[in-house]
Amino acid sequence: MIFNDVNFDTYLKNYPTEDGFFGKYGGSYISPELQTAMQEISHAYNTICKSRKFIDELRRIRREFQGRPTPISHLQRLSDSIGTGVQLYAKREDLNHTGAHKLNHCMGEALLAKYMGKKKVIAETGAGQHGVALATAAAYFGLECDIYMGKVDIEKQAPNVARMKILGARVVEVTDGLQTLKEAVDAAFAAYAREYKDAIYCIGSVLGPHPFPLMVRDFQSVVGIEAREQFIDMTGELPDAVVACVGGGSNAMGTFAGFLNDPVDIYGVEPLGRGTALGDHAASLKYGTEGIMHGFNSIMLKDENGEPAPVYSVASGLDYPSSGPEHAFLHDLGRVKYDVINDEETIDAFFTLSRLEGIIPAIESSHAIAYGMKLAKTMKKGSVLITLSGRGDKDMDYVIEKYGIR
Ligand SMILES: *Cc1c(COP(=O)(O)O)cnc(C)c1O
Repeated sequence: MIFNDVNFDTYLKNYPTEDGFFGKYGGSYISPELQTAMQEISHAYNTICKSRKFIDELRRIRREFQGRPTPISHLQRLSDSIGTGVQLYAKREDLNHTGAHKLNHCMGEALLAKYMGKKKVIAETGAGQHGVALATAAAYFGLECDIYMGKVDIEKQAPNVARMKILGARVVEVTDGLQTLKEAVDAAFAAYAREYKDAIYCIGSVLGPHPFPLMVRDFQSVVGIEAREQFIDMTGELPDAVVACVGGGSNAMGTFAGFLNDPVDIYGVEPLGRGTALGDHAASLKYGTEGIMHGFNSIMLKDENGEPAPVYSVASGLDYPSSGPEHAFLHDLGRVKYDVINDEETIDAFFTLSRLEGIIPAIESSHAIAYGMKLAKTMKKGSVLITLSGRGDKDMDYVIEKYGIR
């Protein structure tokens, strides 16, 4: 399929380019020292990812340890409640081990670390999901694990902090700035610059300098590839629309990778938080402009000085002032439509899915559910496949305290 001059038959092979560009987005804007480290990772990934041994080991781990393939569920009662006849389906990444999609790339990254002979993995975490997933992978492979986390997020996500510690990781508290994900990324980067000889940095999304947007997409594409095959098996056809939430953009990019070359409408959902004022949301693709941060060029939210702006979302996994460079590219191209869902709509969807389907979704994923429901109301027939990126157990105390039981 050719779309706006880009050939999607060969898209995944041709994008990113060898130096990590999706059009003008992506690349690697880092210190020479980190550049050396990233080139080492890039070189290792390019050779190792093609080896039979690596592929077979990753497939075995996905099957035996992660519980893949995760199912697709037909959301029958939710579909009935909408009343247009449109059928909603969920790809159940909440049933992936540790309760979210993030383990998909963490197992890949940690397996790569093992093949590269590294002793330690380093990462930042926001909601704590990436930290838990990486700590899990580190325990599985016998690697040391340092997780950098903002003080605010540590307080908000106490159960995940406990999980990381139980799994044997060291949780490093970050007290700079707003004490959330952005500052944690900066601190983890600084640690990696000091320790790169023995460690590898495992980015938690399709973000950061090359080769991470490529690598994380590749590891997450299992979601979209499985979903496409399962959906066709279930219904005999492709979905009319695919929906996923976008923070950094890894569950979305993994999902979209399976459908980019199909006649399927693709939607990425960003958090509108409390509203459109800068600081009240984290909808970087919708309201941001081109800029470089954390080592890559993408679309980002900036303050009056051109620095990454403070952002907010009820979902701490989505409150990042930019998104992966591939999303910026697909946004400009028009192949993926990016839209927003606010906190209120999100919390409604959180309770609606719980009540009608017996699935408590993560607040991040609730953005995608809310959008899928909205979309189904505007369609006359057909089907919508929503990626349910994670389960909501981590969010229950927070939701009840802030919103009560609805
Ligand atoms: C981290 C997280 C997200 C956001 O990350 P992406 O890289 O945008 O996928 C979404 N959902 C859940 C459950 C998460 O833990």
